[in-house]
Amino acid sequence: MAEPLLNMEKSVLIIYTGGTIGMKTNPETGSLAPFNFGQIETEVPELKKLGIKVDTYTFDPVIDSSNVSPEQWVLLARIVKERYHAYDGFVVLHGTDTMSYTASAFSFMMQNLDKPVIFTGSQIPIGILRTDGKENLITAIEIAAARRDGKAIVPEVCIYFENKLFRANRTSKANADHFNAFRSYNYPPLAEAGIDIHYNDSFIRKVDAFLPSFDIVERLCCDVQIIRLFPGLSESMLHAMLHVPGLKGVVLETYGSGNAPVYPWFLNELQDAVRRGIVILNVTQCNAGTVNMDLYDTGQLLRQLGVVSGKDLTTEAAVTKLMYLLGGAFTERQIAEQLSVSIRGEQS
Ligand code: ASP
Repeated sequence: MAEPLLNMEKSVLIIYTGGTIGMKTNPETGSLAPFNFGQIETEVPELKKLGIKVDTYTFDPVIDSSNVSPEQWVLLARIVKERYHAYDGFVVLHGTDTMSYTASAFSFMMQNLDKPVIFTGSQIPIGILRTDGKENLITAIEIAAARRDGKAIVPEVCIYFENKLFRANRTSKANADHFNAFRSYNYPPLAEAGIDIHYNDSFIRKVDAFLPSFDIVERLCCDVQIIRLFPGLSESMLHAMLHVPGLKGVVLETYGSGNAPVYPWFLNELQDAVRRGIVILNVTQCNAGTVNMDLYDTGQLLRQLGVVSGKDLTTEAAVTKLMYLLGGAFTERQIAEQLSVSIRGEQS
């Protein structure tokens, strides 16, 4: 870990995992390469003016976020846990491609969180003139350090991108080109940055006064999969997907408000999977809105088979919630209870 840059009251740890934000042009080859984040102040001299002590930690090796895996989520969570008491908040720099997955997983893995963990990245590398990375980084640090009456203003896992702070487990990457790459369709932003940072207090999670001490859950189940319905999905394909050895959980991306075909083979496959103990969580393929399994016959049939409504969960939150709940830390009863309720503000 780098030496503290300044000895000031508030302190933030930046963890650089990889991704576009930490790149600059190699003058010799002309291609983009990661720069040494220990020298972030050289790239972003504005950091000195923040009045916040900033330390950095760089993953070795840094990874393109397409390569991220649950094992790395655990390593990342351990970095936070080991340094939790030394900082007011954490900024995780991560590639945008899978940021919503990592940050959603993090929201479940962090137990009794009372400090901000702010994920950010950029669409243009920080070493390029038109970068969006500087603003994203500087504001993410400000939010990670922000306190009111001695308490963190945003004690949540969040994504900050292009002037908006979102609850992480409500986000999806929605644009591959534009600076505003992320959306939170079913939950309002927790803060918006303009001339000042405006916090939407009523949407920010309140921390229990008697919170037990912070910890992380490391056991995640990887025997889960996402099945997206489409007209033409055949019996043999569905059968194969539901008979993957060891399968424990499925996120079923259905149509509209949670609807699926009513072909007997389709319903039989699902029923058989539920009987074999596989948890099936129903989320909608629509970006916004919610599953309502009472609205149509098709939804009601799914409920009768034992498919669980994922309400307005994003696919990213649904799959990581399953990984967390099926990881072995919970009894069957606890899993069933927690699946239908919001445990980290992930569903309405
Ligand atoms: N491919 C990069 C990544 O996700 C893109 C980015 O950083 O935005 O790691």
